[in-house]
Amino acid sequence: MCEPYFDGEVADVWVETVRLSRKEHNCSACGCVIGERTTYTDIRIIYDGSAWMERVCFGCSAASKAFAKEHGSQPSPSGLLVELEECARGDPRSWVKYAPMAEAMIARGGSRED
Ligand SMILES: [Zn+2]
Ligand SMILES: [Zn+2]
Repeated sequence: MCEPYFDGEVADVWVETVRLSRKEHNCSACGCVIGERTTYTDIRIIYDGSAWMERVCFGCSAASKAFAKEHGSQPSPSGLLVELEECARGDPRSWVKYAPMAEAMIARGGSRED
């Protein structure tokens, strides 16, 4: 298992709210389109004097929670793919678990570009 370089544990505030979208958004983690009237997770973070909000799709939220459960901390949505890939590279057990999640994220987003 790896050491996440940024995680929810170090954030001053980390508030997650499950919401129903009123308009289209893009997932901060995978980049996929969160369509109108779709459930997503709204995450408000305050860290080191900065406050920002990220929106993640259902799949990324699930991947993030699975990662958090094993690592004891939750990566920031925009860093989730990197964290999963880093962890997958670390050892075979992690690879079995996290490589498919990283691949699913890339497939959802349709591209690795922002
Ligand atoms: Zn790890
Ligand atoms: Zn996503």
